[in-house]
Amino acid sequence: MSSTEFTTISEALSEFERAFRPLHDNYWFALRAAVLIAIRFFRCEMCGNCCRFSPLVFSEDEAWRIAEFLGKRVEELPLRRVEYCVCGRVIIYYKAPRPCPFLSGNRCAVYEVRGSQCRAFPFEFLMYSLVPAYCPAIPKALRKAAEFISQNFDVLRRAVRVMEDDLKRLATDFDFKEAMRRCAYEPLVRKLFTIISRLREKTQACATPTGQ
Ligand code: SF4
Ligand code: SF4
Repeated sequence: MSSTEFTTISEALSEFERAFRPLHDNYWFALRAAVLIAIRFFRCEMCGNCCRFSPLVFSEDEAWRIAEFLGKRVEELPLRRVEYCVCGRVIIYYKAPRPCPFLSGNRCAVYEVRGSQCRAFPFEFLMYSLVPAYCPAIPKALRKAAEFISQNFDVLRRAVRVMEDDLKRLATDFDFKEAMRRCAYEPLVRKLFTIISRLREKTQACATPTGQ
């Protein structure tokens, strides 16, 4: 990465943090709400970098779906099977080498059945305040989100309060987080923007003088 690219990412990140930090006393609530906004503005540039550089694992179900899609047996996939034990329960997952073996040019050859990690990139990273430097679309989305937050600050602060339970579950409830990852957080983005519109309508209704 060049020093100019590094400066762009770090400036965009600082702008984003300055905008979202006052949204809530809890840093994580404020960050996650801001990431939902960044998701709305994110436009993938189809460079394929995430498939080249991200550490990637597939759950057992995902690996089976990919095998079925390709008309192969799961053992034939170019993935490494890993097994470990948690509290007496055996967990199996499949680890991909880098670059991902399903990347063809800059395209995914198993797009329809790609795993939840693929669907949630780069949002899963951003949810934990990590910014993958190899994604050129992130700084642009962070800048647009920062601008949106600054322009809609009061309404957003109230919307974050309404969304507190969801924002908390994103950190603590594994099943909820998994469900969100599978559909790349879209339901939460829609929910946040619906709340924002409702709050705006209410504010406008209150500001309209009666008798007009
Ligand atoms: S499965 Fe497809 S989307 Fe996921 S990393 Fe591989 S090439 Fe990329
Ligand atoms: S690195 Fe970012 S811009 Fe490039 S394909 Fe992945 S998500 Fe899209």
